Amino acid sequence: MNRIHSFFVLGALVYLAPAAQARLEIVATTPDFGSIASEIAGSRGAVTTLAKPTEDPHFVDAKPSFIVKLNRADVLVEGGAELEIGWLPALLDQSRNVKLALGAPGRISCAQGISLVEIPTTLDRSRGDIHAAGNPHYLSDPVNAKIVAEHLANAFCQLDPKSCDAYRDNTKKFVGQLDRKMEEWDKLLEPFKGQRMVAYHNTWPYFARQFGLSIDLFLEPKPGIPPTPVHLAEVVSRMKADHIHVILVEPYQNRRTAEAIAADTGATVVDVTQFPGGIKGTDKGYIELMDYLVTSIARALGEGKK
Ligand SMILES: [Zn+2]
Repeated sequence: MNRIHSFFVLGALVYLAPAAQARLEIVATTPDFGSIASEIAGSRGAVTTLAKPTEDPHFVDAKPSFIVKLNRADVLVEGGAELEIGWLPALLDQSRNVKLALGAPGRISCAQGISLVEIPTTLDRSRGDIHAAGNPHYLSDPVNAKIVAEHLANAFCQLDPKSCDAYRDNTKKFVGQLDRKMEEWDKLLEPFKGQRMVAYHNTWPYFARQFGLSIDLFLEPKPGIPPTPVHLAEVVSRMKADHIHVILVEPYQNRRTAEAIAADTGATVVDVTQFPGGIKGTDKGYIELMDYLVTSIARALGEGKK
């Protein structure tokens, strides 16, 4: 009798154990949001990221497996500001998950609370500009990463109040690390204040503003529109006139176009990425990614100064 009773109790404990430690199933759209969500959730959440770090976040290759992941999720962490408008809405429709419906606590749009730049005064989608709600690449500014971290902590606390202390502790730790790193990054880029660079796509206005740089000339004539010979000729003449000697290129952009412009102008092509894991040496997470960006940009600007 006793043995049967003990067995039953043990069985009940085994059954209860996973439920007591249930983790939030979190889906992030892109690896930068996935990385910060992991920092904040810690052991209380399991994070899955949809886009690959080498993929254009505006044009992610939507796979059927994404629908299954979204269907099983408790939380969706998205950039918002129309970053994912080309591929996420259809997947969400098909995933039929009420937890991720607009306005539900499980739907976290990180753009909320961010002061977006470049919000168009007139909306004209016919010209093909894919930044119709303002520039959605705000995580290149570490101050915005802190805002996103706090936003995620608040949302996770609402969804899982029992683990709230852990989410707050993780946030404090992450924000503290960022604050210490910020001093280092400021120092590295300080000598280059006011310098201009060219980028393939308009990905870096928040990074530029934070560190006193100017990245306002692009190989794309408009965000999402491939370079044209007429536009590239204008870029070349402006680069020569203004002595701009650095071109930033991301993994999914056409490096050969950038190399041709570099050959014409004597500029250096610098490989950069918005996403942890987009380039070797950035896979550990957001802070390592920023380390890579700051050091590679400082190096390229320093070489041009000689
Ligand atoms: Zn963009």
